[in-house]
Amino acid sequence: MHPPQHLWPVTTTNGPEGMKIGGMLLSDLAQEFGTPAFVLDEEDFRGRCRSWRDAFSGHDVYYAGKAFLCHRVATWLKEEGLGIDVCSAGELRTARRAGVPGASLIFHGNNKSAAELAEAVAHGVSLVVVDSEDEISRLSAVAGSRGVRQQVLVRVTPGVEAHTHAHITTGTDDQKFGFSLSTGSAHRAISQVLAAPGLELVGLHSHLGSQILRPDVFELAADRLVGLMADTARTHGVLLRRLDLGGGLGIAYLPDEKPLDVRDFAPVVIDRVQKACAETGLPMPRLAVEPGRAIAGPTTVTLYTVGTIKRQPGLRTWVSVDGGLSDNMRPALYDASYTAVRAGRTTGRTAEETVTVCGRHCESGDIVVDSTTLPADLAIGDLLAVPASGAYHRSMANNYNCQPRPPVIAVRNSTARVIVRRETVDDVLRLDVE
Ligand SMILES: *Cc1c(COP(=O)(O)O)cnc(C)c1O
Repeated sequence: MHPPQHLWPVTTTNGPEGMKIGGMLLSDLAQEFGTPAFVLDEEDFRGRCRSWRDAFSGHDVYYAGKAFLCHRVATWLKEEGLGIDVCSAGELRTARRAGVPGASLIFHGNNKSAAELAEAVAHGVSLVVVDSEDEISRLSAVAGSRGVRQQVLVRVTPGVEAHTHAHITTGTDDQKFGFSLSTGSAHRAISQVLAAPGLELVGLHSHLGSQILRPDVFELAADRLVGLMADTARTHGVLLRRLDLGGGLGIAYLPDEKPLDVRDFAPVVIDRVQKACAETGLPMPRLAVEPGRAIAGPTTVTLYTVGTIKRQPGLRTWVSVDGGLSDNMRPALYDASYTAVRAGRTTGRTAEETVTVCGRHCESGDIVVDSTTLPADLAIGDLLAVPASGAYHRSMANNYNCQPRPPVIAVRNSTARVIVRRETVDDVLRLDVE
Protein backbone atom coordinates (compact mmCIF):
# COMPACT_ATOMS: atom_id res chain seq x y z
CA MET A 1 0.00 0.00 0.00
CA HIS A 2 1.30 3.44 -0.88
CA PRO A 3 1.03 5.69 1.03
CA PRO A 4 0.89 3.79 4.33
CA GLN A 5 -2.15 2.10 5.79
CA HIS A 6 -2.74 4.56 8.63
CA LEU A 7 -3.83 7.27 6.19
CA TRP A 8 -6.62 5.13 4.75
CA PRO A 9 -10.01 4.02 6.09
CA VAL A 10 -9.76 0.83 8.14
CA THR A 11 -11.33 -1.53 5.57
CA THR A 12 -9.12 -0.34 2.68
CA THR A 13 -7.44 -3.10 0.67
CA ASN A 14 -5.26 -2.82 -2.39
CA GLY A 15 -5.18 -5.92 -4.60
CA PRO A 16 -4.62 -6.71 -8.25
CA GLU A 17 -8.14 -5.49 -9.14
CA GLY A 18 -7.45 -2.09 -7.55
CA MET A 19 -8.23 -0.35 -4.30
CA LYS A 20 -11.32 -1.31 -2.30
CA ILE A 21 -13.05 0.28 0.70
CA GLY A 22 -15.87 -1.50 2.50
CA GLY A 23 -15.43 -4.32 -0.01
CA MET A 24 -16.26 -2.00 -2.93
CA LEU A 25 -13.84 -1.30 -5.76
CA LEU A 26 -13.25 2.44 -5.99
CA SER A 27 -13.31 2.16 -9.80
CA ASP A 28 -16.79 0.58 -9.63
CA LEU A 29 -17.99 3.34 -7.30
CA ALA A 30 -16.65 6.00 -9.66
CA GLN A 31 -18.44 4.34 -12.54
CA GLU A 32 -21.74 4.05 -10.72
CA PHE A 33 -21.81 7.37 -8.87
CA GLY A 34 -19.47 9.58 -10.90
CA THR A 35 -16.70 11.85 -9.63
CA PRO A 36 -15.84 13.85 -7.67
CA ALA A 37 -17.32 11.82 -4.83
CA PHE A 38 -16.67 11.24 -1.15
CA VAL A 39 -16.46 7.57 -0.18
CA LEU A 40 -17.08 7.05 3.55
CA ASP A 41 -16.16 3.81 5.35
CA GLU A 42 -19.08 3.25 7.73
CA GLU A 43 -17.26 0.57 9.73
CA ASP A 44 -14.36 2.96 10.32
CA PHE A 45 -16.72 5.77 11.37
CA ARG A 46 -18.61 3.56 13.83
CA GLY A 47 -15.36 2.03 15.12
CA ARG A 48 -13.96 5.47 15.90
CA CYS A 49 -17.18 6.41 17.70
CA ARG A 50 -16.85 3.28 19.86
CA SER A 51 -13.16 3.95 20.60
CA TRP A 52 -14.00 7.43 21.88
CA ARG A 53 -17.01 6.25 23.84
CA ASP A 54 -14.99 3.43 25.47
CA ALA A 55 -11.93 5.59 26.17
CA PHE A 56 -14.16 8.16 27.91
CA SER A 57 -16.59 5.71 29.50
CA GLY A 58 -18.45 7.32 32.39
CA HIS A 59 -18.06 10.68 30.64
CA ASP A 60 -19.72 12.24 27.57
CA VAL A 61 -18.58 12.30 23.95
CA TYR A 62 -20.27 14.84 21.71
CA TYR A 63 -19.34 14.48 18.04
CA ALA A 64 -18.68 17.92 16.53
CA GLY A 65 -21.30 18.04 13.77
CA LYS A 66 -19.57 20.79 11.85
CA ALA A 67 -16.87 18.31 10.76
CA PHE A 68 -19.50 16.45 8.73
CA LEU A 69 -23.14 15.86 9.57
CA CYS A 70 -26.05 14.44 7.62
CA HIS A 71 -29.15 12.43 8.50
CA ARG A 72 -27.48 9.02 8.24
CA VAL A 73 -24.39 10.04 10.22
CA ALA A 74 -26.65 11.39 12.98
CA THR A 75 -28.39 7.99 13.20
CA TRP A 76 -25.02 6.21 13.46
CA LEU A 77 -23.99 8.55 16.28
CA LYS A 78 -27.25 7.84 18.10
CA GLU A 79 -26.76 4.08 17.68
CA GLU A 80 -23.16 4.25 18.90
CA GLY A 81 -24.10 6.24 22.01
CA LEU A 82 -22.50 9.58 21.16
CA GLY A 83 -24.08 12.99 21.58
CA ILE A 84 -23.71 15.75 18.98
CA ASP A 85 -22.26 19.23 19.25
CA VAL A 86 -24.30 21.52 17.00
CA CYS A 87 -23.71 25.19 16.29
CA SER A 88 -26.62 26.33 14.11
CA ALA A 89 -30.34 25.77 13.61
CA GLY A 90 -29.46 23.67 10.53
CA GLU A 91 -27.22 21.29 12.46
CA LEU A 92 -29.74 21.16 15.31
CA ARG A 93 -32.55 20.19 12.93
CA THR A 94 -30.41 17.60 11.14
CA ALA A 95 -29.82 15.87 14.47
CA ARG A 96 -33.44 16.14 15.66
CA ARG A 97 -34.90 14.88 12.37
CA ALA A 98 -32.66 11.84 12.70
CA GLY A 99 -34.26 11.20 16.08
CA VAL A 100 -31.37 12.37 18.23
CA PRO A 101 -32.97 13.59 21.47
CA GLY A 102 -32.33 17.14 22.65
CA ALA A 103 -30.79 15.61 25.78
CA SER A 104 -27.90 14.31 23.59
CA LEU A 105 -27.15 17.72 22.09
CA ILE A 106 -24.85 20.54 23.13
CA PHE A 107 -25.24 23.92 21.43
CA HIS A 108 -22.28 26.15 20.52
CA GLY A 109 -21.57 29.40 18.73
CA ASN A 110 -20.32 32.92 19.35
CA ASN A 111 -23.42 34.57 17.85
CA LYS A 112 -26.47 32.38 18.35
CA SER A 113 -29.62 34.25 17.34
CA ALA A 114 -32.60 34.62 19.68
CA ALA A 115 -34.52 32.33 17.30
CA GLU A 116 -31.82 29.65 17.50
CA LEU A 117 -31.70 29.89 21.28
CA ALA A 118 -35.50 29.56 21.42
CA GLU A 119 -35.31 26.51 19.15
CA ALA A 120 -32.57 24.97 21.29
CA VAL A 121 -34.59 25.48 24.47
CA ALA A 122 -37.77 24.15 22.79
CA HIS A 123 -35.92 20.97 21.73
CA GLY A 124 -34.59 20.45 25.25
CA VAL A 125 -30.93 20.77 24.27
CA SER A 126 -29.04 19.52 27.29
CA LEU A 127 -26.37 22.20 27.41
CA VAL A 128 -25.96 25.60 25.82
CA VAL A 129 -22.37 26.84 25.87
CA VAL A 130 -22.59 30.58 26.48
CA ASP A 131 -20.02 32.70 24.72
CA SER A 132 -20.88 36.37 25.39
CA GLU A 133 -22.55 38.60 27.98
CA ASP A 134 -25.24 39.47 25.41
CA GLU A 135 -26.00 35.82 25.01
CA ILE A 136 -26.24 35.23 28.76
CA SER A 137 -29.04 37.78 29.07
CA ARG A 138 -30.65 36.74 25.76
CA LEU A 139 -30.74 33.05 26.71
CA SER A 140 -31.95 33.77 30.22
CA ALA A 141 -34.87 35.76 28.78
CA VAL A 142 -35.70 33.03 26.23
CA ALA A 143 -35.64 30.27 28.86
CA GLY A 144 -37.50 32.40 31.40
CA SER A 145 -40.30 33.13 28.92
CA ARG A 146 -40.79 29.36 28.54
CA GLY A 147 -40.70 28.83 32.27
CA VAL A 148 -37.55 26.68 32.22
CA ARG A 149 -34.04 26.99 33.56
CA GLN A 150 -31.57 26.16 30.81
CA GLN A 151 -28.40 24.36 31.88
CA VAL A 152 -25.31 26.10 30.55
CA LEU A 153 -21.54 25.87 30.39
CA VAL A 154 -19.39 28.99 30.26
CA ARG A 155 -16.87 28.92 27.43
CA VAL A 156 -13.45 29.92 28.71
CA THR A 157 -10.29 30.79 26.79
CA PRO A 158 -7.62 29.51 29.16
CA GLY A 159 -4.71 31.23 27.39
CA VAL A 160 -3.28 28.01 25.98
CA GLU A 161 -1.49 28.03 22.63
CA ALA A 162 -2.37 24.81 20.80
CA HIS A 163 0.54 24.86 18.29
CA THR A 164 -1.70 24.61 15.26
CA HIS A 165 -2.65 26.96 12.38
CA ALA A 166 -3.69 30.48 13.53
CA HIS A 167 -7.09 30.14 11.82
CA ILE A 168 -7.91 27.09 13.94
CA THR A 169 -6.44 28.28 17.25
CA THR A 170 -9.19 29.05 19.74
CA GLY A 171 -7.73 28.73 23.24
CA THR A 172 -5.69 31.92 23.33
CA ASP A 173 -6.92 35.18 24.86
CA ASP A 174 -7.12 37.51 21.89
CA GLN A 175 -9.85 36.01 19.75
CA LYS A 176 -13.58 35.92 19.15
CA PHE A 177 -14.51 32.79 21.11
CA GLY A 178 -15.12 32.52 24.83
CA PHE A 179 -14.37 34.54 27.95
CA SER A 180 -10.74 35.18 28.80
CA LEU A 181 -9.50 33.65 32.03
CA SER A 182 -6.52 35.95 32.47
CA THR A 183 -8.44 39.23 32.12
CA GLY A 184 -11.17 38.29 34.60
CA SER A 185 -13.89 38.09 31.92
CA ALA A 186 -14.51 34.42 32.70
CA HIS A 187 -15.03 35.16 36.41
CA ARG A 188 -17.46 37.95 35.50
CA ALA A 189 -19.40 35.71 33.11
CA ILE A 190 -19.75 33.09 35.85
CA SER A 191 -21.18 35.70 38.23
CA GLN A 192 -23.56 36.91 35.54
CA VAL A 193 -24.83 33.38 34.78
CA LEU A 194 -25.31 32.66 38.48
CA ALA A 195 -27.43 35.80 38.74
CA ALA A 196 -29.51 35.01 35.61
CA PRO A 197 -32.93 33.65 36.61
CA GLY A 198 -33.39 31.56 33.45
CA LEU A 199 -30.01 29.82 33.64
CA GLU A 200 -28.35 27.11 35.69
CA LEU A 201 -24.57 27.03 35.60
CA VAL A 202 -23.40 23.41 35.54
CA GLY A 203 -19.83 23.69 34.32
CA LEU A 204 -17.09 25.10 32.15
CA HIS A 205 -15.99 24.56 28.58
CA SER A 206 -12.85 25.20 26.58
CA HIS A 207 -11.87 24.28 23.03
CA LEU A 208 -8.23 24.93 22.25
CA GLY A 209 -8.29 24.61 18.49
CA SER A 210 -8.07 21.94 15.86
CA GLN A 211 -5.56 19.49 14.39
CA ILE A 212 -3.69 19.36 17.72
CA LEU A 213 -1.01 16.67 17.86
CA ARG A 214 0.14 16.84 21.50
CA PRO A 215 -1.70 16.12 24.76
CA ASP A 216 0.16 18.57 27.02
CA VAL A 217 -1.93 21.54 25.89
CA PHE A 218 -5.09 19.74 27.06
CA GLU A 219 -3.40 19.05 30.42
CA LEU A 220 -2.53 22.73 30.85
CA ALA A 221 -6.09 23.75 29.96
CA ALA A 222 -7.47 21.17 32.42
CA ASP A 223 -5.31 22.60 35.23
CA ARG A 224 -6.47 26.14 34.56
CA LEU A 225 -10.15 25.21 34.27
CA VAL A 226 -10.05 23.19 37.48
CA GLY A 227 -8.45 26.27 39.05
CA LEU A 228 -11.44 28.32 37.90
CA MET A 229 -13.82 25.68 39.26
CA ALA A 230 -12.05 26.03 42.62
CA ASP A 231 -12.36 29.84 42.46
CA THR A 232 -16.07 29.44 41.74
CA ALA A 233 -16.52 27.13 44.73
CA ARG A 234 -14.66 29.59 46.98
CA THR A 235 -16.32 32.78 45.74
CA HIS A 236 -19.87 31.60 45.16
CA GLY A 237 -20.13 28.33 47.08
CA VAL A 238 -21.13 26.60 43.82
CA LEU A 239 -19.71 23.18 42.86
CA LEU A 240 -19.51 22.77 39.10
CA ARG A 241 -20.26 19.19 38.03
CA ARG A 242 -19.26 19.29 34.35
CA LEU A 243 -16.01 20.02 32.54
CA ASP A 244 -15.95 20.02 28.74
CA LEU A 245 -12.48 20.05 27.21
CA GLY A 246 -13.69 20.49 23.63
CA GLY A 247 -12.33 18.75 20.56
CA GLY A 248 -9.28 19.28 18.43
CA LEU A 249 -7.36 16.03 18.37
CA GLY A 250 -5.47 15.87 15.08
CA ILE A 251 -5.23 13.19 12.41
CA ALA A 252 -2.63 12.16 9.82
CA TYR A 253 -2.90 13.78 6.41
CA LEU A 254 0.61 12.81 5.29
CA PRO A 255 2.53 9.54 5.66
CA ASP A 256 4.99 10.88 8.27
CA GLU A 257 2.36 12.42 10.58
CA LYS A 258 1.75 10.58 13.85
CA PRO A 259 -1.59 11.43 15.41
CA LEU A 260 -2.43 10.59 19.03
CA ASP A 261 -4.72 7.63 19.52
CA VAL A 262 -7.73 8.32 21.73
CA ARG A 263 -6.77 5.28 23.84
CA ASP A 264 -3.54 7.08 24.76
CA PHE A 265 -5.07 10.55 24.90
CA ALA A 266 -8.06 9.85 27.17
CA PRO A 267 -6.18 8.43 30.21
CA VAL A 268 -3.74 11.36 30.18
CA VAL A 269 -6.55 13.91 30.27
CA ILE A 270 -8.70 12.03 32.79
CA ASP A 271 -5.70 11.54 35.13
CA ARG A 272 -4.78 15.17 34.93
CA VAL A 273 -8.26 16.36 35.86
CA GLN A 274 -8.35 13.82 38.71
CA LYS A 275 -5.01 15.06 40.08
CA ALA A 276 -5.95 18.72 39.75
CA CYS A 277 -9.26 18.10 41.54
CA ALA A 278 -7.57 16.11 44.30
CA GLU A 279 -5.11 18.96 44.85
CA THR A 280 -7.86 21.55 45.14
CA GLY A 281 -10.26 19.37 47.11
CA LEU A 282 -12.93 19.32 44.40
CA PRO A 283 -14.96 16.23 43.44
CA MET A 284 -14.18 14.79 40.00
CA PRO A 285 -16.51 16.44 37.46
CA ARG A 286 -18.23 14.57 34.64
CA LEU A 287 -16.04 15.26 31.61
CA ALA A 288 -17.09 15.91 28.05
CA VAL A 289 -15.07 15.90 24.83
CA GLU A 290 -16.09 17.02 21.35
CA PRO A 291 -14.09 15.23 18.66
CA GLY A 292 -14.97 16.06 15.06
CA ARG A 293 -11.96 15.60 12.83
CA ALA A 294 -10.59 12.62 14.78
CA ILE A 295 -13.78 10.66 14.10
CA ALA A 296 -14.82 11.77 10.62
CA GLY A 297 -11.51 12.75 9.00
CA PRO A 298 -9.81 9.40 8.41
CA THR A 299 -13.00 7.59 7.36
CA THR A 300 -13.37 9.18 3.94
CA VAL A 301 -11.51 9.47 0.65
CA THR A 302 -12.28 11.82 -2.21
CA LEU A 303 -12.37 10.29 -5.68
CA TYR A 304 -11.45 12.52 -8.60
CA THR A 305 -10.99 11.87 -12.32
CA VAL A 306 -7.95 13.27 -14.10
CA GLY A 307 -9.10 15.62 -16.84
CA THR A 308 -5.91 17.21 -18.19
CA ILE A 309 -2.19 16.78 -17.64
CA LYS A 310 -0.01 19.77 -18.51
CA ARG A 311 3.72 19.31 -18.98
CA GLN A 312 5.84 22.32 -19.86
CA PRO A 313 9.62 22.10 -20.15
CA GLY A 314 11.37 23.31 -16.99
CA LEU A 315 8.12 23.74 -15.07
CA ARG A 316 6.14 21.36 -12.93
CA THR A 317 3.55 18.91 -14.18
CA TRP A 318 -0.04 19.95 -13.47
CA VAL A 319 -2.59 17.18 -13.09
CA SER A 320 -6.09 18.71 -13.14
CA VAL A 321 -9.01 16.92 -11.56
CA ASP A 322 -12.77 17.45 -11.74
CA GLY A 323 -13.16 19.08 -8.28
CA GLY A 324 -10.89 21.07 -5.96
CA LEU A 325 -11.64 24.25 -4.04
CA SER A 326 -15.38 23.54 -4.09
CA ASP A 327 -14.99 20.21 -2.25
CA ASN A 328 -11.79 20.90 -0.29
CA MET A 329 -11.21 24.40 1.05
CA ARG A 330 -8.44 23.33 3.41
CA PRO A 331 -5.35 23.87 1.23
CA ALA A 332 -6.51 27.43 0.47
CA LEU A 333 -7.66 28.15 4.05
CA TYR A 334 -4.89 26.56 6.07
CA ASP A 335 -2.12 25.62 3.64
CA ALA A 336 -3.12 22.04 4.32
CA SER A 337 -1.16 19.25 2.64
CA TYR A 338 -2.51 16.01 1.20
CA THR A 339 -1.38 12.98 -0.74
CA ALA A 340 -3.08 11.18 -3.61
CA VAL A 341 -2.79 7.77 -5.20
CA ARG A 342 -4.02 6.34 -8.46
CA ALA A 343 -6.92 4.17 -7.38
CA GLY A 344 -8.39 2.73 -10.53
CA ARG A 345 -5.79 0.54 -12.20
CA THR A 346 -2.54 -0.99 -11.08
CA THR A 347 0.33 -1.32 -13.50
CA GLY A 348 2.83 -3.04 -11.25
CA ARG A 349 6.00 -1.12 -10.51
CA THR A 350 6.12 1.83 -12.87
CA ALA A 351 8.35 4.88 -12.84
CA GLU A 352 7.01 7.76 -10.79
CA GLU A 353 6.82 11.46 -11.44
CA THR A 354 6.46 14.37 -9.00
CA VAL A 355 3.35 16.37 -9.86
CA THR A 356 0.95 18.97 -8.52
CA VAL A 357 -2.69 17.96 -8.44
CA CYS A 358 -4.89 21.00 -8.95
CA GLY A 359 -8.63 21.62 -9.10
CA ARG A 360 -10.73 23.01 -11.94
CA HIS A 361 -11.63 26.35 -10.35
CA CYS A 362 -10.66 29.87 -11.38
CA GLU A 363 -8.15 30.49 -8.58
CA SER A 364 -4.45 29.75 -8.76
CA GLY A 365 -4.68 28.69 -5.08
CA ASP A 366 -7.01 25.86 -6.11
CA ILE A 367 -4.52 23.12 -5.21
CA VAL A 368 -5.52 19.62 -4.14
CA VAL A 369 -2.05 18.17 -3.56
CA ASP A 370 0.88 20.53 -3.79
CA SER A 371 3.48 17.88 -4.42
CA THR A 372 3.16 14.13 -4.68
CA THR A 373 4.52 11.28 -6.74
CA LEU A 374 2.17 9.53 -9.13
CA PRO A 375 2.86 6.88 -11.78
CA ALA A 376 4.62 8.40 -14.77
CA ASP A 377 2.11 6.73 -17.09
CA LEU A 378 -0.77 8.61 -15.42
CA ALA A 379 -3.36 9.27 -18.10
CA ILE A 380 -6.51 11.25 -18.68
CA GLY A 381 -9.46 9.35 -17.24
CA ASP A 382 -7.41 7.84 -14.40
CA LEU A 383 -8.97 7.85 -10.97
CA LEU A 384 -7.22 9.55 -8.03
CA ALA A 385 -8.07 8.95 -4.37
CA VAL A 386 -7.22 11.50 -1.68
CA PRO A 387 -7.36 10.12 1.89
CA ALA A 388 -8.30 11.94 5.13
CA SER A 389 -11.17 13.79 3.42
CA GLY A 390 -13.94 13.17 5.94
CA ALA A 391 -13.79 16.29 8.11
CA TYR A 392 -14.27 19.88 6.94
CA HIS A 393 -14.52 18.80 3.30
CA ARG A 394 -18.18 18.12 2.42
CA SER A 395 -19.28 20.36 5.31
CA MET A 396 -17.29 23.27 3.85
CA ALA A 397 -18.11 22.46 0.22
CA ASN A 398 -19.37 25.36 -1.84
CA ASN A 399 -20.70 26.26 -5.26
CA TYR A 400 -17.84 28.41 -6.53
CA ASN A 401 -18.00 28.56 -10.34
CA CYS A 402 -21.56 27.14 -10.02
CA GLN A 403 -19.95 23.80 -9.32
CA PRO A 404 -22.42 21.25 -7.88
CA ARG A 405 -21.25 19.68 -4.62
CA PRO A 406 -20.19 16.00 -4.60
CA PRO A 407 -22.22 13.18 -3.06
CA VAL A 408 -21.23 11.15 -0.01
CA ILE A 409 -21.33 7.40 -0.60
CA ALA A 410 -21.22 5.21 2.51
CA VAL A 411 -19.72 1.76 1.92
CA ARG A 412 -19.97 -1.26 4.20
CA ASN A 413 -19.91 -5.05 3.72
CA SER A 414 -19.65 -4.77 -0.06
CA THR A 415 -22.63 -2.46 -0.40
CA ALA A 416 -22.74 1.22 -1.26
CA ARG A 417 -25.41 3.66 -0.21
CA VAL A 418 -25.76 7.33 -1.11
CA ILE A 419 -26.14 9.27 2.16
CA VAL A 420 -25.87 12.73 0.59
CA ARG A 421 -26.86 12.84 -3.07
CA ARG A 422 -24.89 14.65 -5.74
CA GLU A 423 -26.01 18.22 -6.33
CA THR A 424 -27.06 19.05 -9.89
CA VAL A 425 -26.54 22.26 -11.81
CA ASP A 426 -30.32 22.72 -11.52
CA ASP A 427 -30.00 22.52 -7.72
CA VAL A 428 -27.39 25.24 -7.84
CA LEU A 429 -29.47 27.49 -10.11
CA ARG A 430 -32.71 26.93 -8.19
CA LEU A 431 -32.18 29.92 -5.92
CA ASP A 432 -31.85 32.37 -8.80
CA VAL A 433 -34.80 34.71 -9.06
CA GLU A 434 -35.69 35.71 -12.63
C1 LIG B 1 -14.69 22.74 15.92
C2 LIG B 1 -15.04 22.42 17.30
C3 LIG B 1 -14.89 21.11 17.77
C4 LIG B 1 -14.31 19.99 16.94
O1 LIG B 1 -13.00 20.22 16.56
P1 LIG B 1 -12.18 19.05 15.85
O2 LIG B 1 -10.86 19.64 15.60
O3 LIG B 1 -12.91 18.70 14.61
O4 LIG B 1 -12.14 17.90 16.81
C5 LIG B 1 -15.27 20.85 19.06
N1 LIG B 1 -15.79 21.81 19.85
C6 LIG B 1 -15.94 23.08 19.43
C7 LIG B 1 -16.53 24.08 20.35
C8 LIG B 1 -15.56 23.43 18.15
O5 LIG B 1 -15.71 24.69 17.74
